[in-house]
Amino acid sequence: MQRRQFIKHTLGGLSVAAAGSSLAGGSAGERKHADSNGTDLYDTVVIGGGFAGVTAARDASQMGLRTLLLEARPRLGGRTFTTRFGGHDIDAGGTWLGWGQPHVWSECMRYGMEIDMSASTGAEQFVWYHGRERMEGNGAEYGRLSTEAFEKFFAPAREMFPHPYEPLLQSQSRQFQQLDQMSAAEAIEKLDLSDVQKTLARSLAAINGHAPATESSYLDHLRWIALGGFDQAFMWSNLGYYRLKGGTRALLEKMQGDSRAELRLGTVVRSVSQQAGGVSIVTGRGEHIRARTVIFALPLNVLSQIQFEPTISHVKLDASQQGHTGSGSKVYMRIKGKHPVIFAQGREDMAFNFYWTEYDDGDSQITVGFNASPDYLDVNDDEEIQKAVHLFQPGVELLESFSYDWNLDPFSKGTWCMYPPGMLTGALQELQRPEGNLYFAGADIANGWRGFIDGAIETGARAARLVGERLIPEELAGVSSPSAKSA
Ligand SMILES: Cc1cc2nc3c(=O)[nH]c(=O)nc-3n(C[C@H](O)[C@H](O)[C@H](O)COP(=O)(O)OP(=O)(O)OC[C@H]3O[C@@H](n4cnc5c(N)ncnc54)[C@H](O)[C@@H]3O)c2cc1C
Repeated sequence: MQRRQFIKHTLGGLSVAAAGSSLAGGSAGERKHADSNGTDLYDTVVIGGGFAGVTAARDASQMGLRTLLLEARPRLGGRTFTTRFGGHDIDAGGTWLGWGQPHVWSECMRYGMEIDMSASTGAEQFVWYHGRERMEGNGAEYGRLSTEAFEKFFAPAREMFPHPYEPLLQSQSRQFQQLDQMSAAEAIEKLDLSDVQKTLARSLAAINGHAPATESSYLDHLRWIALGGFDQAFMWSNLGYYRLKGGTRALLEKMQGDSRAELRLGTVVRSVSQQAGGVSIVTGRGEHIRARTVIFALPLNVLSQIQFEPTISHVKLDASQQGHTGSGSKVYMRIKGKHPVIFAQGREDMAFNFYWTEYDDGDSQITVGFNASPDYLDVNDDEEIQKAVHLFQPGVELLESFSYDWNLDPFSKGTWCMYPPGMLTGALQELQRPEGNLYFAGADIANGWRGFIDGAIETGARAARLVGERLIPEELAGVSSPSAKSA
């Protein structure tokens, strides 16, 4: 069957979004066409195989587009990475998700994923810090102090983000602009809070931005409560309660298993140039790949490492060079013995500012700790980690620990995305904007849960849809690439 006929039969008369599910049999990768020099030509090449890229490649290939997914690392998943620790499938990167995250939750339901819950949802012991003093209770006092503090911190959210999936709806408002120029730390300083509540609020901003509260935009924090239905309990339930049985890899494998895209792992893209009729991609091994369109599904912090010819918008490149704030640590620990299931919040500058039990195995626990900066803890030093644990659970014995330094990894150069002051109003729209044959995806430029797996899937799906909306009508009209020919 001619390629154009194939697309017409499978997609004609259907909306692009609905069409993928109507495809049965045949791999998009089997239908080849070439440019005028006889070079193999892909409809779209997706660069980056995290959740955004895997979604984009799956969706584009299911539309009947000849799709190639290029991933630098020898594995898919990007800033998600499931491994074994203490007898459990733990995630060194993205882990928790929730039913208020529409894109990832829909994928979980679609593939029948089993959902587990963090042990901390049944916490028996709550610990927090008042200055240098360790406080402990059953949750009522911590709940009262923190809920009130966070309520005040998130107060402007309803006005700033009335429709959470339209993050720039209020961008013409002066207050919106002002709150984006302000750091979370500055905002907290102005709030009517007790000292201990200011400590709690700064620590909250530090985990959400995965960086000291001085570094992140106050406005950007407000999105989280808006996306959580303006309700703290619901927001938290999307951030730290539910995780996937088998880890994030279990979902990623299902999504990738549904893809018709070709996949090349261990392939670092170095440069991308646009010419009439398409795009040329050069890899680290010097391979040349030709495509009609390219979808970039890269972390914000690495986009500027690609050489673009002609250059892309300086707003995109400047934002990439400046980077998002996410740069703290996440450490899993196995501790010996039976202990109360704990949920603890430390000061912003402590070795861990959030710490909780993730698995309670009876004779041991797997706990997880976060901090705002790798400077606050040497994650390779178990003695330091043991001391950090003692600040919450005195006398407990550390058996082993595991952490991954996402800052040192050249393919992530950071953890999850929160914007520094000015980036939401100054760059988000531009970061999302296609340029010629180049389309952009990635959790770091999402409208909704930006910085989350949900945001990655949102943007991957959007980029594939945009490419489909562009290429499929061209294909049906017979005006694709002047040189494209059917196999
Ligand atoms: C420690 C940590 C904890 C987190 N916790 C959560 C959580 O609990 N819940 C949640 O929803 N999110 C969490 N996140 C965030 C979430 O993991 C990310 O937002 C999301 O996975 C990003 O997906 P992505 O596809 O946009 O980008 P990535 O996953 O970063 O994928 C980009 C891909 O591009 C590849 N790449 C880079 N450069 C090149 C190149 N030149 N050529 C080819 N390929 C390239 C990379 O190798 C990578 O695979 C966490 C992240 C971290 C690091």
